[in-house]
Amino acid sequence: MSPIELNKRQDTILQIVKENGPITGEQIAERLNLTRATLRPDLAILTMAGFLDARPRVGYFYSGKKTMTTASESMMNLKVGDFQSLPVVVSENMTVYDAIVQLFLEDVGTLFVVDEGSYLQGVLSRKDLLRTSIGTQELTKIPVHIIMSRMPNIVYCKKSDLLIGAAKKLIERQVDSLPVVNETEKGLEIVGRLTKTNVTKAFISLAETHDL
Ligand code: ADP
Repeated sequence: MSPIELNKRQDTILQIVKENGPITGEQIAERLNLTRATLRPDLAILTMAGFLDARPRVGYFYSGKKTMTTASESMMNLKVGDFQSLPVVVSENMTVYDAIVQLFLEDVGTLFVVDEGSYLQGVLSRKDLLRTSIGTQELTKIPVHIIMSRMPNIVYCKKSDLLIGAAKKLIERQVDSLPVVNETEKGLEIVGRLTKTNVTKAFISLAETHDL
């Protein structure tokens, strides 16, 4: 097993927890002037690799041992919820023109389409919008529900799913992103967005933590 190398932020977190643990994720984030969401991947990796222990309602504390957790063991524990991004959601009746503007404003590659109750109805990718743009001049008149990929053919995942399972869905279905949802009786509530970039970031975190 090679020595484990942490990135600078992970080192700082470890130092904070060593000196102040038990300490909550929220409190660590405050000390670093970052949001809890930004720290989530680092905390997940440090916990998976055995540097930190996490107790519900208590917080993180330094486990004091350099465990022999392998990269593959850590990988099999990473969850979608630790790496997901914020979703960008538009309504079914938004025009294709406005959806394109939204794509640029929010700087994302995929928009999720919801009905009036905010439940997932479809997905709009860059190429869905491009295809329509070269085929018609009426972009300000066509609502996105005409051109989107729609339920029940949308592939999605949940926060608690293993990241590796969601990554497989991205590759097998040849899509760039998955909506992260809560399954309810009324439909799928969108709580996040998992992209190939999120998976790539997790891959880099693993390499940094395990000195691959
Ligand atoms: P692009 O078309 O910009 O390369 P994708 O590869 O993500 O982006 O999308 C390919 C096609 O699959 C598009 O028609 C899109 O609407 C659809 N699509 C994208 N994401 C999903 C998903 N999670 N579930 C089902 N269909 C999807």
